[in-house]
Amino acid sequence: MSNPSLLILPGDGIGPEVMTEVRKIIDWFGAKRDMKFDVSEDLVGGCAYDKHGTPLHDDTMAKAQEVDAVLLGAVGGPKYDSLDFSVKPERGLLRLRKEMDLFANLRPAQCFDALADFSSLKKDVVAGLDIMIVRELTSGIYFGEPRGIIEEGNERVGINTQRYTESEIDRVARSAFELAMRRNKKLCSMEKANVMESGVLWREVVTEVGKDYPDVELSHMYADAGAMQLCRWPKQFDVIVTDNLFGDLLSDAAAMLTGSLGMLPSASLGAPMANGRPKALYEPVHGSAPDIAGQGKANPIACVLSFAMALRYSFDQGDEATRLEQAIEKVLADGYRTADLLGEEGKQPVSTSEMGDAIVAALDASL
Ligand code: NAD
Repeated sequence: MSNPSLLILPGDGIGPEVMTEVRKIIDWFGAKRDMKFDVSEDLVGGCAYDKHGTPLHDDTMAKAQEVDAVLLGAVGGPKYDSLDFSVKPERGLLRLRKEMDLFANLRPAQCFDALADFSSLKKDVVAGLDIMIVRELTSGIYFGEPRGIIEEGNERVGINTQRYTESEIDRVARSAFELAMRRNKKLCSMEKANVMESGVLWREVVTEVGKDYPDVELSHMYADAGAMQLCRWPKQFDVIVTDNLFGDLLSDAAAMLTGSLGMLPSASLGAPMANGRPKALYEPVHGSAPDIAGQGKANPIACVLSFAMALRYSFDQGDEATRLEQAIEKVLADGYRTADLLGEEGKQPVSTSEMGDAIVAALDASL
């Protein structure tokens, strides 16, 4: 049987720096756990524009469609700010998401014990937190028609349309139920069925899909109440599923419960391929951080955790993903901190590569 395939797109700014650390970890799994991947690497974003005049070459797009998973660093930077919208670095990422039809965006909010003091919430509210928000990514108000700014009488009117088909709700709900089955079998669906028809339909379809997952405890919550509950007692949740707009807001709020942008991974999943694996793109939530690029200051953990998600959701290696997460927990408990995790303490930070090396050492220690 051939090895699972992984396309790595480091991108711009700190993207290549954090990806170098992920490569060390991929090599470790190959050498020490006999998990070999067919890894290929290509360009996306500004660096692809510099070479090809487009932020995503057609050949790269074709490769992304073929592999078992894509791992992306970050794109963008001030050098490209004045480019035409059609060739901006971000368009490369948007094209990947669109053409791979990645409709389920997974955003975990996981609090490592060693960083519990770093949250703006009280320690007992966030310590041990481990929840997953599933956001619908390809439909809803960001895409619905009609849209635009029109003249009406003597003033302008801004219009966006929230629109969801049953099948769009069905497929993202199924992804969320499948996830809940692998976790603590609790799913909370959030919408505004009290004031939006699309919310009424959302609730009906999610309830219907739930009949196929009798082991999962399904609950419904209005999204505004959900936002309050996320801040009040987030540990009441396991998996949350919600639409594109509410998911955008709720996942950012939930992520910040846990501290730094440098710690946040994400996955975007599509329909299953012929081999049963979902189409998948894994990437840290952060951008290319031009303010610290090239200085060895970037925290590689968000990108490493994105690879851990790939192990779990694309390669069926949940135990190895847990091993990697525990290695990160250990280096944090041992006091390793990149500059973004230091706060006001005034300690000496470790560099990007020192953090990567420490994680590899912790992996060694796990054997
Ligand atoms: P950003 O995420 O790049 O940076 C925001 C702040 O967080 C900066 O101070 C940065 O130094 C810090 N930061 C981010 N990641 C970090 C890490 N791993 N370790 C330590 N500190 C980290 O967001 P921005 O400054 O708004 O955008 C910069 C560029 O990145 C822009 O061109 C933007 O379009 C692009 N961007 C790309 C993506 C993506 O590739 N998915 C996402 C967001 C922004």
